[in-house]
Amino acid sequence: MSNPYSVTVIPGDGVGPEVTKATVKVLEATGVKFQWEPVEAGEAVVERYGTPLPEEALASIGRTKLALKGPLTTPVGFGFRSINVSLRKQFDLYACLRPCLSFPGAPSRYEDVDLIVVRENTEDLDIGLEFEKGTPEMARLQALVAEDLHEDLEGEWGVSLKAISEAGSRRILKFGFDYAQAHGRKKVTAVHKANILKYTDGMFLAIAREVAGDYPGVEFEDIIIDNLCMQLVRNPDRFDVLVLPNLYGDIISDLCAGLIGGLGLAPGANIGEGAAIFEPTHGSAPRYAGQDRMNPMAMILSGAMLLRHLGEDGAAVRVEQAVGQVIQEGNILTYDLSRQAAPASTSQVAEAVIEAMRRSHA
Ligand code: NAD
Repeated sequence: MSNPYSVTVIPGDGVGPEVTKATVKVLEATGVKFQWEPVEAGEAVVERYGTPLPEEALASIGRTKLALKGPLTTPVGFGFRSINVSLRKQFDLYACLRPCLSFPGAPSRYEDVDLIVVRENTEDLDIGLEFEKGTPEMARLQALVAEDLHEDLEGEWGVSLKAISEAGSRRILKFGFDYAQAHGRKKVTAVHKANILKYTDGMFLAIAREVAGDYPGVEFEDIIIDNLCMQLVRNPDRFDVLVLPNLYGDIISDLCAGLIGGLGLAPGANIGEGAAIFEPTHGSAPRYAGQDRMNPMAMILSGAMLLRHLGEDGAAVRVEQAVGQVIQEGNILTYDLSRQAAPASTSQVAEAVIEAMRRSHA
């Protein structure tokens, strides 16, 4: 018998532990053998460890190179910086892969959505290069802007830097094209605001055009982010693989989740050369924590992506088909998808997915 796969498990904050427990159960029911390494991280452990990202968690991922992760809370407008961003930077998980696929029977305004969002994960506005108003650093930046760019930032300003590199842009664009080629996708769309942001998005676009030249079999186009938003809600079929700098990718991921019936159905993976972390697109939804109410399917489908990453394609397909079947049957669904007066719980949905796998195997 082959060795079990060692996988770090971070249950996370808010609804994270509930959807993680559900996912681990489903993955175990595939028959694939795992050795789980559960570790703590997140807002809930700050008091105990003095940090939201304890050394044990980092050491475990350093060892296993693979994690299944629930969402982690980031305080809004104050407090510690995002642990998600730290993890992505620490392990150089530069590609965030988020498929958005319609499931027949899921309540949605659209049918047959089949989009792949490829978000750059380590650069851009999200990485926290910021200058706070009234600080000496901000005063130095104001002086530099006045001297070198001849612009006045007089008064109280806060600044967040949008910084993207040529190498970072090239590798995410290559990832997008490689993905398209390997998965028989027809088109890659590079998303930008190069009309305004000449030196960041302008560079991203120039590199996209260059990289596209190496993939003659894949159609290429580019689009300005505002136009993309309008086109996506009018006609998502126009698009196939979208490659975006970090912040646009973050926002468009949620928009695309909305096209298929919501965040409860949107899985994701953060992939680097040496490690990968699988997590749903959704956050910790703290208001719902502990209620066994949220849809575990986004995280279960992230688990299917983990299986595929391990080369366990058969098990991945079984999980995806079981999720599809439970949705299509329509009897055991959480509040976001259910048409019934009493929606099912997180744990009931996990059981239903496991049961659907058993039935299809019998
Ligand atoms: P959220 O994704 O947690 O929730 C937004 C809304 O989406 C919820 O109120 C709920 O209506 C719906 N929703 C989310 N997950 C669902 C599920 N599984 N099933 C059904 N409905 C679901 O976004 P938020 O409220 O803006 O963020 C809450 C916290 O999560 C913040 O601290 C944020 O920083 C963090 N966050 C973490 C991650 C991550 O860990 N990767 C991602 C996004 C947000």
